[in-house]
Amino acid sequence: MDDRFGRDGIIQDGAVCVSGKDIVEVGRYKDLKKQYPTATVIGSRRFWVMPGFVNAHQHGKGLTNFQLGGTDEPFELSRVKGSPQAKVPPYLDTLYAALRMIESGITLTFHYNASRGANFYESDVRERLRAYNDAGLRVTFGLDIRNRNHVVYCDDEFLASLPENLREKVRPRTTQSRTADSENYFRLAEQLDDQFKQAIDGRIKLFLAPAGPQWCTEDLLRAIHRFAERRGLGIQIHALETKYQRAYFLRAYGKSALEWLDELEFLSPRVSLAHGVWLSEHDIALAAQRGCSVVHNPSSNLRLKSGIAPVTAFHAAGIALAMGLDSSALNDDMDMLQEMRLCANLQRTPGVDAPTLPLKEILAAATSSGAKILGWGSRCGTLEPGKAADVILIDSERFRLPYLASGQSPIDTLIYRGRASDVDTVMIAGEILYQGKKHRKLDLKSILQQLQASIELVGKTDPLDEELLPHVVRYYQAWDNEVLTPHHVLKNR
Ligand SMILES: [Zn+2]
Repeated sequence: MDDRFGRDGIIQDGAVCVSGKDIVEVGRYKDLKKQYPTATVIGSRRFWVMPGFVNAHQHGKGLTNFQLGGTDEPFELSRVKGSPQAKVPPYLDTLYAALRMIESGITLTFHYNASRGANFYESDVRERLRAYNDAGLRVTFGLDIRNRNHVVYCDDEFLASLPENLREKVRPRTTQSRTADSENYFRLAEQLDDQFKQAIDGRIKLFLAPAGPQWCTEDLLRAIHRFAERRGLGIQIHALETKYQRAYFLRAYGKSALEWLDELEFLSPRVSLAHGVWLSEHDIALAAQRGCSVVHNPSSNLRLKSGIAPVTAFHAAGIALAMGLDSSALNDDMDMLQEMRLCANLQRTPGVDAPTLPLKEILAAATSSGAKILGWGSRCGTLEPGKAADVILIDSERFRLPYLASGQSPIDTLIYRGRASDVDTVMIAGEILYQGKKHRKLDLKSILQQLQASIELVGKTDPLDEELLPHVVRYYQAWDNEVLTPHHVLKNR
């Protein structure tokens, strides 16, 4: 996307020369061929070569919630309704997720760990890391933590509203964290960070991933900020994904979640905000001022009834953007091209002079900008000499046949017509992981067999969930009137 190379940085009949793990040159095929006559040639005129996609928010699930028997519920109900009926061991689950990402052209992903219990926390993390290592996918690993509001936002208020017999049954849940406590958390973070930094040209980087402002105490967030500053780490945090998260901060603190975080001096360029659907105008200005970025997850926001994020306003305010699939994409699959297309279309507000989000910016969010936000800006996200060879080939034949007007820009064509299934070859750090639409490093068939054999039915859901559901619905219903209008409406403001 660098105009030095021609319009939108596109080189006609271009090629990328890779040696070892890195890109050594980018230019016209005939020039490179002359310079490197014995180099192996991968691809041909029908392929487009581009940097791999960056999936900047993902929970590393290979089998989706839906595949495992769950249902899409409004986010706040998901703790008591629609949970999966089966589970998969973390190693195989993440290995399968990595395979699916690789075949859709993703070369860098964020993994927001979502631990399922304090007792398995460390083993769960290590198993998932082992899977990424075996798969060869580049990953920014977000170590998760939460230490409050385990049932709803403001557990105390909720407990007080319950009939007495139910209150005592629910009380233990309000103290059960699914993550490590902060002492063990920082101990593990230190170990992993040392380990990743010592690896020569390793493909894993650590981020801290506090679950969200409503799930972390002030002390914890301050400690995370200090730790990140000391070690030079990035932070990703779920922020204002839903209207109830916005309402919670207004009710409990009389200010927005972002203002609250800012008062803790938490906001900085090292922080990326996942979702941000319910940021107010003032929040957007604040995020821009502090240099925070936003990871946009349009499919997930629709599926979990969170809403449509004001991405055009983020862009206008100068906020750096990335794209994520959040393990919850529109076709229950992993397709960054479809995600970009959905993003583009959701931002097409009516009105002859309504601003639209340029497709080039959406592609940047899914590549170069995403890589910067995940801490890999100096190594990947663009095709240029000295960067890691994280390169994909896209088969353009389906876009062009039987006819495509020659004036259509490749970027527009890719976003309007591209699908994950058009990805033909994926290379990470010079290693070919996928070629001719086939996995080269791992045996897909055997992994699928192991995965099928490992699925464990969880059985009946806890009867307490069913009993609790109407109370959770009633609890949040009372907040509905406090946030009357969504931030993003389909009209020109
Ligand atoms: Zn998430």
